[in-house]
Amino acid sequence: MPNQLRYKVLIVEDDPGISIFLKTSVSAAGYDVIVTETGTDALHLIASQCPDCILLDLGLPDMDGSQIIHNVRSWTQTPIIVVSARSMEEDKAAALDEGADDYISKPFGSIELLARIRAALRHTRTASDNDEIGLTGTYHVGDLEIDYKKMRVLLAGRDVHLTPNEYKIVALLGKHAGRVMTYRSMLRELWGPAANQDNKILRVHMASIRRKIEPNPNEPRYIFTEVGVGYRMAENDAPDPEKKPE
Ligand code: CA
Repeated sequence: MPNQLRYKVLIVEDDPGISIFLKTSVSAAGYDVIVTETGTDALHLIASQCPDCILLDLGLPDMDGSQIIHNVRSWTQTPIIVVSARSMEEDKAAALDEGADDYISKPFGSIELLARIRAALRHTRTASDNDEIGLTGTYHVGDLEIDYKKMRVLLAGRDVHLTPNEYKIVALLGKHAGRVMTYRSMLRELWGPAANQDNKILRVHMASIRRKIEPNPNEPRYIFTEVGVGYRMAENDAPDPEKKPE
């Protein structure tokens, strides 16, 4: 691959079978690969080897993968893809909440794996987020405000702590407020034309966003679900008769 950068992928996985599968698939696609089975080693390698992408198992012998995400996110935005057998949405949401970029559930094939890696790498290269969405100014509805210049979301004047991906979703929906955005169009806008078409990632992010911005996540007032279609942000400046002074 003469015209292509050789990206370095770190695999953090203690299951030997899965580790070999990951290593084989990723090397065959032309990436440099580093492998470890412990969290301690992983943190050391991330600092010393500066991988371009991290494939991370959540259940490691010496620490929980979410601790690694938390640690890594305090100093670098290197994309992290959680590779986990855990099927609970809660675990995935927690990992994404800590700052993981994506997740892939075992069992999966190498085509799906490589697509996720490419998407993660593309995301870092174009990550000057607001250029991508091309936004300016602010969006208000009820107690919710998006400050696009500062890339902040405020609820009743207080900062809402969103992960980078959560912010991008809220910002995108705010830009299209009042209109339904399909899962597919959101995935394309957020992660590019080759994005995985599975909307599960959006649902996991949305659950986390709603816990942070909605007074009652089960009866959303800011971001509505259009069943089977996508999401819709409440219209800009919509009157909010229920709004009460704090
Ligand atoms: Ca494991």
